Amino acid sequence: GTRRVLVTGCSSGIGLAVAARLANDELRRFKVVATMRDLGKRGPLEKAAGDSLNKTLEIKQLDVCCEASIRECVNSLPDRRVDVLVNNAGVGMIGPLECQSIDVMRELFDTNFFGLARLVKELLPDMKRRQSGHIVVMSSVMGIQGILFNDVYSASKFAVEGFCESLAVQALKFNIKTTLVEPGPVVTEFERKVYEDAEKMDLSGTDEETAKIFREVYLPYSKKIFASLGQTPEEVAEQTVKVITAEEPPLRHQTNRLYMPMTALKHADPTGRLPLDTFYKMTFKHDRVFNATLGVMRILQRMAGKK
Ligand code: NAD
Repeated sequence: GTRRVLVTGCSSGIGLAVAARLANDELRRFKVVATMRDLGKRGPLEKAAGDSLNKTLEIKQLDVCCEASIRECVNSLPDRRVDVLVNNAGVGMIGPLECQSIDVMRELFDTNFFGLARLVKELLPDMKRRQSGHIVVMSSVMGIQGILFNDVYSASKFAVEGFCESLAVQALKFNIKTTLVEPGPVVTEFERKVYEDAEKMDLSGTDEETAKIFREVYLPYSKKIFASLGQTPEEVAEQTVKVITAEEPPLRHQTNRLYMPMTALKHADPTGRLPLDTFYKMTFKHDRVFNATLGVMRILQRMAGKK
């Protein structure tokens, strides 16, 4: 039969692409509850949904930071039934730690981590009772490996990973599957917002050397990474659908194979020296190492494209 999929953060980016892709499934396997915090931003999703709007896709209000809005949305569904949760809503943040207030860090955790905790608390009891369900969570490669100037964002994704890894064990006892989708860079609003905030950022809270590293090394470097290795939200959506329809969904799925060598460094050296040295060299001896890395990644990408 058809499965009801609730997706959060559908006004843009990956959430929008996942909702539209599921709703337009040729085999009509899904009923999509596409949710967003601000219904005023429904235009782009309506456009992407096309004919599926109000047939296999309905749009509902849901703010992942507000328990009442989550409950109201779930209560409005027949039997409160959600077969698949795609927990996608999330925000990014980059910059030197000294320039970020604890309040701003809390807000980020409130969305990226507590948003997930709120949704799972609301849906898990019903999934357990029905002995079925799938919790799909948009994590990141930064949920596996921390990256320079992404301290707080990465911490929030590590939180998400630890939460799901722990939960997956008891969930499985009730026949509920758990999957962490781990994209590398994806070209969405997310990227634009993060850079926009970075340009506006008051760097007077940190020393000159750190500010210089952020502005002159990190920012140009990471923009290059997005431009050369970034995936489209549609690519990530396509892989998310594969995960949802898999007979035996994996606990983790990395969407960008070019990032696998990076995440593998961690498992190759339990002391943590190997990834630390590699990232240090990539950042501070960046010109040569960066260009070499990028060159190799481009070759790999071309090979992957030809397959
Ligand atoms: P995006 O900014 O286009 O989408 C994020 C969505 O979440 C937006 O529609 C936003 O309105 C929504 N949102 C934020 N706070 C919310 C709240 N309180 N309640 C409901 N919705 C809320 O960015 P995206 O790239 O599509 O991000 C989607 C997910 O993918 C995020 O969890 C992000 O961390 C993750 N991710 C993104 C990238 C990337 O490079 N873009 C890489 C890895 C993982």
